[in-house]
Amino acid sequence: QAAQNFDYLNDLNSAQRAAVEALDGPVLMLAGAGTGKTKALMARVAHLLTLGKCTSREILAVTFTNKAAREMKDRLHRTPFVLQHLLRDHGLQWMGTFHAISVKILRRHAELVGLKPNFTILDTDDQLRLLKQLVLAANIDEKRWPARMLAGLIDGWKNRAWTPEKVPSSEASAYNNRGTELYAAYQDRLKTLNATDFGDLLLHCVMIFQNYPDVLQQYQRWFRYILVDEYQDTNVAQYLWLRLLAQAHKNICCVGDDDQSIYGWRGAEVGNILRFEKDFPSAQVIRLEQNYRSTGHILAAASGLIAKNAGRLGKTLWTAGALGEKVRLIGHWDGEEEARWIGEEIEAIQRGTRGMEPVDLNRQAILVRASHQMRAFEDRFLTIGLPYRVIGGPRFYERQEIRDAMAYFRLAVSPDDDLAFERVVNLPKRGLGDTAQSKINVLARAAGVPLLDGAREALAKGVIPGKGAAQLRAFVEGVDRWHAATFHPEYDHIRLAETILDESGYTEMWQNDKTPEAPGRLDNLKELVKALEQFDNLQGFLEHVSLIMDNDTEGAEEKVTIMTLHAAKGLEFPVVFLPGWEDGLFPSQRSMDESGVKGLEEERRLAYVGITRAEELCTISFASNRRVYGQWQSQLPSRFIDELPPDHVEVLTAPGLYGGGYGAAAQVGFGSSLEDRVSKADVYNSPGWRRMQENQSHRPIRQPVEARHVVIDAEALSPYVLGDRVFHQKFGYGEIVGIEGDKLDVEFDRAGLKKVVARWVIPADQV
Ligand code: ATP
Ligand code: MG
Repeated sequence: QAAQNFDYLNDLNSAQRAAVEALDGPVLMLAGAGTGKTKALMARVAHLLTLGKCTSREILAVTFTNKAAREMKDRLHRTPFVLQHLLRDHGLQWMGTFHAISVKILRRHAELVGLKPNFTILDTDDQLRLLKQLVLAANIDEKRWPARMLAGLIDGWKNRAWTPEKVPSSEASAYNNRGTELYAAYQDRLKTLNATDFGDLLLHCVMIFQNYPDVLQQYQRWFRYILVDEYQDTNVAQYLWLRLLAQAHKNICCVGDDDQSIYGWRGAEVGNILRFEKDFPSAQVIRLEQNYRSTGHILAAASGLIAKNAGRLGKTLWTAGALGEKVRLIGHWDGEEEARWIGEEIEAIQRGTRGMEPVDLNRQAILVRASHQMRAFEDRFLTIGLPYRVIGGPRFYERQEIRDAMAYFRLAVSPDDDLAFERVVNLPKRGLGDTAQSKINVLARAAGVPLLDGAREALAKGVIPGKGAAQLRAFVEGVDRWHAATFHPEYDHIRLAETILDESGYTEMWQNDKTPEAPGRLDNLKELVKALEQFDNLQGFLEHVSLIMDNDTEGAEEKVTIMTLHAAKGLEFPVVFLPGWEDGLFPSQRSMDESGVKGLEEERRLAYVGITRAEELCTISFASNRRVYGQWQSQLPSRFIDELPPDHVEVLTAPGLYGGGYGAAAQVGFGSSLEDRVSKADVYNSPGWRRMQENQSHRPIRQPVEARHVVIDAEALSPYVLGDRVFHQKFGYGEIVGIEGDKLDVEFDRAGLKKVVARWVIPADQV
């Protein structure tokens, strides 16, 4: 009976076991990816409960995401015996993120920082609106000194646990010498509003702990054991928070990996690891070296790469597992090719045709450096009906900026699209408030005309006041012009799309926006324009999007995961794809431009995080061409690719990359193995490469890959009649059961009922 209770110890190695059994006093578990840090942390919880060291309510366990906390709770609930404790003690109430736990604490002591217990937590939009008001009131030119800049500044100060009084004088010049003053004003304003922002949650707690020793003591007694996962990514405020709570009993166990520190840009400090040993001199430091996650080649490739970073604490990793597959490396012609290839690979792996056991979609992931990379994958997967989920953000076509831009395109194609009109008539702001808009509405409804004509009417009648009238006129004329352009014989829909975004002021709106999200939104807009290339006109594109949005795989049980590398921390997948390994994308341009190696080293750690997510199969890819700022640009493979140890990498050749004159350049010399590849210098001097450089402003010649659009007759409506049998690239054979313009409802033999565009199918007898 008793032996059974310790089951969770049996599947630990001796180092892990030591870490689990060292329950009292400070423990620092420093170990590489996949060595079972998180697993050991969970076993500690089980052990604490089993030995009766404390109740589950007395454990403070900090995880990096709410998702991680949920997963841990689930796993513990599945551990027999532990469950009994959890049920008896009302569960792990203090397991969560720093923020989630801080809110709980703060609600109980809000009055100590001048808040009421029901304070609201502002999101970044509200925060910004508030700051803008303050900036305006302070007579600061917001054009030169954007409120966003101030927001970033204040966040940074809060991450360092600086209240307005504590901001050091070295920061005095920040934000045109007014930063500290405005920070203080902002904090006052928040208090009046009975509100906090995210940074405050921690900061207020730290202040309470520091100023009210009795409250601190209460929590020190309460949280008898403290556990922290992903410790390498804590910032100073979080560190102080932990240190204050742990000071008395020192029962704190932090686990982390300096090689996976990837939040430096958000104020995380690897130095906290070193500080820990100083603040808790008696700390036991436990190192784990056996990796249980990845096969030998994957682990060796990741270790070889991270070894290029200087200033590591350094560690060795080994695995008792098989060598497995080498890390696969493949170059593609462009980003669309890359997405197409990966889509096919995923399906092949799912079917088990890659020499592996079949791997279902839930266990395959694509990890990108930048979220704008996701679009190509989403588009491709929607087209072929491959179910996917995007973690950490809406799907591409559901994003705000994409919907806005699409509304503009819809207006250009059909100026009577009222929904689109409403969405963008005052976006960017054109001085058209609710009153002006309702006047337009009333006039349009009375005359039974679209809103655009209602707007004309309103202008003619002179009912739009002030500057709004001139701006509305410009908007109406713009729509007319764009609409006319779609009939022009030399109509180029990509140029038109760019013009629309430009002339409407929409792109500019995001350019002037200094929020951290703005650059991402601009990238997404560029991605959108890029997506247009595969279509002949705006209309076709809009149709495509409405169809794929309709052709929803949301309900599917199995889905491929698409997420950023940052969000993938701590997770693992049997099959991992790492696309876009190109200089300027990964490592990012910013990290390459920076002087010093700090930024580059953080990027390299991110690459290490990426590779070490993979259990069995890891595929890195790069494209030779990407459209950047509307221009085709030839890309260089990431410097990280050169740093991978060749013995653990297998270079694949992409079909369609060779030949056509540009082959050599496109492959950048990757032959059948890394050792015998041509050096980069040779390639860049080759005629093929130079020719490609000269052709840069043109669209590179695409290799014929696949007939995506089977054009029957683009202009005519559907040439089909009900009951016709047709063939579709992805869905196979089916019978037409409905016709609506050029859209067909097809009952596919295998895929079931789908709506497809007539152009995309061919008569079954012509296959
Ligand atoms: P990361 O640094 O990526 O967060 P980690 O060190 O937290 O990794 P875990 O996620 O805890 O590692 O473990 C990685 C994988 O290895 C998990 O699938 C886990 O179940 C398995 N594992 C860990 N320790 C052992 C062990 N002693 N025996 C068998 N499997 C183990
Ligand atoms: Mg972990």
